[in-house]
Amino acid sequence: MSTSKRVRIKITGIVQGVGFRPYLYQLAQRLSLSGSVCNDGRGLDVVIEGDTQQVDLFLTTLQTKSPPLSRIDTLQHEMEMPTGEVGFTIRRSNTGVATTMISPDMAICDACLSEMQDNTNRRYQYPFINCTDCGPRYSIIKALPYDRPSTSMSDFTMCEVCDAEYANPGDRRYHAQPISCFSCGPTLSLLDSEGRVMREGVESIKIICRLLLEGKSVAIKGLGGFHLVCDATDEEAVQRLRTNKQRPSKPLAVMFKDLQSIKVIAEVSEAEERLILSKERPIVIIKKRREVALAPSIAPGIEKIGVFLAYTPLHILLLEELDRPIVATSANMSDAPIITEEVEIVSKLRDVVDAILTYDREIVNACDDSVLMVAGTQTLMLRMARGFAPKSLPLPFRSSKKILAVGANQKSSIALALGEHIILSPHIGDLVSLEAFEYFERTLETFKRFYDFEPDIIVCDKHPGYETTKWAQQAKSKYPNIRLIEVQHHYAHACAVMAEYKLDESVLAFCFDGTGYGDEGTLWGGEVLIADPLKYERVKHFRPFRLLGGEKAVKEPRRVALSLLFDIYTLGEVLEIDNPTVHSFTESELRTMHAMWERDINSPSSSSVGRLFDAVASLAGISQISGYEGESGLLIETTAERSDDDSFSYEIDDEVIDYRPMIREILDTSSKSEIASKFIATLSSIILEIAEQYPELPVVLSGGVFQNALLVSVVTEKLRVQKRRFYIQKDTPVNDGGIALGQLYHVIHRSKDV
Ligand code: ZN
Ligand code: ZN
Ligand code: FE
Repeated sequence: MSTSKRVRIKITGIVQGVGFRPYLYQLAQRLSLSGSVCNDGRGLDVVIEGDTQQVDLFLTTLQTKSPPLSRIDTLQHEMEMPTGEVGFTIRRSNTGVATTMISPDMAICDACLSEMQDNTNRRYQYPFINCTDCGPRYSIIKALPYDRPSTSMSDFTMCEVCDAEYANPGDRRYHAQPISCFSCGPTLSLLDSEGRVMREGVESIKIICRLLLEGKSVAIKGLGGFHLVCDATDEEAVQRLRTNKQRPSKPLAVMFKDLQSIKVIAEVSEAEERLILSKERPIVIIKKRREVALAPSIAPGIEKIGVFLAYTPLHILLLEELDRPIVATSANMSDAPIITEEVEIVSKLRDVVDAILTYDREIVNACDDSVLMVAGTQTLMLRMARGFAPKSLPLPFRSSKKILAVGANQKSSIALALGEHIILSPHIGDLVSLEAFEYFERTLETFKRFYDFEPDIIVCDKHPGYETTKWAQQAKSKYPNIRLIEVQHHYAHACAVMAEYKLDESVLAFCFDGTGYGDEGTLWGGEVLIADPLKYERVKHFRPFRLLGGEKAVKEPRRVALSLLFDIYTLGEVLEIDNPTVHSFTESELRTMHAMWERDINSPSSSSVGRLFDAVASLAGISQISGYEGESGLLIETTAERSDDDSFSYEIDDEVIDYRPMIREILDTSSKSEIASKFIATLSSIILEIAEQYPELPVVLSGGVFQNALLVSVVTEKLRVQKRRFYIQKDTPVNDGGIALGQLYHVIHRSKDV
């Protein structure tokens, strides 16, 4: 006679809205077990009863196999007295304290895609097809737990057929909260640039395609916001979009219908292919072929291009109809946050777009496209958003305090610590406008609401001018009980790496970036730290130089280069130098700049490697005035033939990395590509040389400079050959998008023993 037992299982992680309950239902059916499951604020609460062996099999299956979008962080079970329960039921959600994880939005799955392409299916060509494995999540959630009434799908009443699918635990759309069909779901509509409805239904797609072929720009609603779209093969159309959007040169992303069409324009490596085809469908930056049938102004002067695949049913229908790639860039002006409502498109981009393709399912939470890149064998996350965020990382221990970290000012994101988790928000953007700051505050409110979170501790940068620092200080003055902790920017970069790999040992961290606020009020950006999660010591740094004109020097690489020349030569000598930097100024400008440099007027001192890239780009004649942040790095990478081992000279003493010998040698080098290649080789050999001085420490690479694919591939290759243990972020942003995570990781450790 078989014995029976009953266990209660508590599962946490990404377990809601990812098809977990039907999976458990089907598993229980298969094993002839009874019991129940329900979502609660912490995850899933499962009870299972039946034959002892079958119950054990249920548990082991659960630990080895779970639905594709789910992630189990913890699974605990305890024995209960059998009750003789019959059948397996899915109980209504218990609303409680919400600490469960939110699934990011996911691209259409294969099963939905084939249904959409099957003309006998009732969802043939349905632009909003989805299931428990795919479709919108974060972008439609208003509150937790994740159930249809707490999403923007609550506006749509399911028809009988959808309702039957939704209620059938054997169906792959069982409890798929955004489920809908032609007769009950959102309606697609085509608006003119004034917001007047021109057409409704799938016919709108045909009209949009016609407009695109005529060279028009349109706005199209995606999962987390609108894209501005034009024909990527039409140079005039792309140029017009750039002019109207006030985005002169920053590269634009291009969306393709399938991998084959990407392979026409680029050599795609296996690793890149995997990223492009991944269920998150991010933008992947790859190297394009020399002659391609794409508008040159998509990425002027650089050989890289950001590509992605159509990821919603709507985008797929559109690209199948159009049969050519489209430029698809976040709809906004300059660097403002992505627009999510058509009224805003009308009010802000009326003069940019000729039509709007939209639908009536509200975007509750905005979310940009994610951007990734492969450097050598290393995957780098440049922007963490759709598909990846909100991101939860399990903590190495339980945090007793509720901690909020507000990040930096550029590529801002926020991070929370609660219980056993760190939660990192999607990319918010550069907090340079009022709109961007409002978006930051909105994101904060959203996360506080989701997780019922009021911070005990707020963590911010040391930079007094950052909007996030000001916000944190105001919060502290409003709520004196909140503790405020400032964390140095580059140390936060190092901590972000430690957070991703859960390190708590000492590391040798190379923190190279644009600029951040240093400890003595100067600007840093070329720092070598010995760090652990609790403390750091600055052991080396690049020799500081002046940024002539402060912020202006960030936009004009030639100002940085000139300042380096002043560090080495007299004004008289500089006036005689035959070099593109010097030639880009008039003589009187050179004299004025020298006076600024000499008298220390508006010329803050900085040790930034990012700015050193600018200086080298200017001295080589590659770039004098920068169109967008990070441009010098991309141009240097494009110009460099391939990095050889031949580097320029430099000196490293106890503390200071002196690159002045390199500057002298650059002046004697006429080939741009030689300068670019040797510069990368120089940085790499500086890193390797310092690393050799600390053989016992693992190496950490962090900061915006490590978005440079060439530098990363050269350095990581060498470290690998030396069998050196090293870490660089791959799942979280290496740039300032990772600062909030780093800030949080440090403070979690600090508050651990308090
Ligand atoms: Zn699906
Ligand atoms: Zn329906
Ligand atoms: Fe930084």
